[in-house]
Amino acid sequence: MLTTSDLLVIGAGPAGSAAAISARRSGLTVTVIDKASFPREKCCGDGLTTGALRHLEELGLDPAMIPSWRTVSDVQVAGPERKLITFPLPKGRGQFAAVARRSELDAALVNLARAAGAHVVENTALESISQHSDRVEVRAGGRTYEAKMIIAADGMWSPTRKLLGLATEGYRGDWHGFRQYFRNVSPQASQELCVWFEPDLLPGYVWSFPLADNTANVGFGILRNTGNRDSGPSIQDMKTLWPDILQRPHIRKVLGNDAMAEAPHKALPIPARLPNTVLTDRRVIFVGDAARATDPMTGEGIGQALETGMLAASIISEVGIDSPDQATTNYERTLRAGMVRDHQLAGLLSKVLATKIGASASLRICSLTPWTRRNFARWLFEDYPRAVLGTPKRWERGLFHRQGAFTEPASKST
Ligand SMILES: Cc1cc2nc3c(=O)[nH]c(=O)nc-3n(C[C@H](O)[C@H](O)[C@H](O)COP(=O)(O)OP(=O)(O)OC[C@H]3O[C@@H](n4cnc5c(N)ncnc54)[C@H](O)[C@@H]3O)c2cc1C
Repeated sequence: MLTTSDLLVIGAGPAGSAAAISARRSGLTVTVIDKASFPREKCCGDGLTTGALRHLEELGLDPAMIPSWRTVSDVQVAGPERKLITFPLPKGRGQFAAVARRSELDAALVNLARAAGAHVVENTALESISQHSDRVEVRAGGRTYEAKMIIAADGMWSPTRKLLGLATEGYRGDWHGFRQYFRNVSPQASQELCVWFEPDLLPGYVWSFPLADNTANVGFGILRNTGNRDSGPSIQDMKTLWPDILQRPHIRKVLGNDAMAEAPHKALPIPARLPNTVLTDRRVIFVGDAARATDPMTGEGIGQALETGMLAASIISEVGIDSPDQATTNYERTLRAGMVRDHQLAGLLSKVLATKIGASASLRICSLTPWTRRNFARWLFEDYPRAVLGTPKRWERGLFHRQGAFTEPASKST
């Protein structure tokens, strides 16, 4: 059996769904395959930055369709001294941060892709790819898919990258994240987004992100191989470290004594190596985690997945589906002039956060005045690109005064 379309998207996470929706809107025929069936679990902190929220709004997502959606108005961050400091986000101008279970968010995005006219095929894993002078051919789930171009949105382990011989030997991600849901958390944990830069995890951190119904996504991330990894915990230590982290008095106090762990904890690698990654190959463009596009300082990758997915689709439709060389060139050029620069800066700052002195000093500087607190929160949550000051081409009027997302009161945004 042969399925033919202009564009084949491999993977229907945020990157793939965003690409599919954008491509359909510009008139391309789109098939999306995913090995999972939705809703599916995805190990994540579930935190949505301002950048991610603006992209979700542009894609037509309605927060009311996500039962776990929780808007966040302030960010609480503690340095190695463990005292939470409030960093306020703008008020009354839309949403600047939110949290939503990935199982629900990703399923809603897949629904939007279908509604936009994409042919979404679930339970269908990629098996092989062959690139030809005029098309690509893919075998998946016992069928053949033919397209002019592929957007590879198949996550951290990107089978597309492997099949094309572009995987980095021994690469297992740059961060490793570990998370568990807790129900019946304290009023504080059910409202506030908290981050603790624990001295033994630097530049990693512990998080508690609030969800609806007195639930929180709690977890921690550590950097692999660099930073203070010589002295810090290894990936193998994470499971044994978890009960210890949960018992730390400042964390336990926020979660509350009645907090109860839900389902088993999960851990996954996080790829944050955009500047040194092959981003395209003939008729294939890598996006999201498959492009290793998560932020190297925070491990946030949903916004980057949405942005790269939308960018790849818009470039393909702009240059025309029969111009893969132009599409791949433009995609690489755009990322290298923008997001790659953001990641280089974030990578440098992550090195500063890797020591206790660096983390303490950074937080002290960011919390000096109400102005620095407000602006740090907006920078951290990607209200504007991280390295925007160093990339004048991205300057635009009103950049620092933009509205958040969903400025119309969303039906469910408390
Ligand atoms: C513990 C942890 C916490 C995190 N916390 C946050 C956070 O709070 N905020 C944030 O912004 N980011 C966070 N991230 C990062 C974020 O989860 C990722 O960056 C994001 O999921 C990337 O989206 P994606 O669409 O590129 O990939 P994915 O969401 O991984 O989607 C890839 C899709 O490809 C499919 N696929 C895989 N193999 C195949 C195959 N062979 N054939 C077909 N389909 C296939 C998968 O089924 C999947 O649906 C966290 C990550 C981890 C691990």
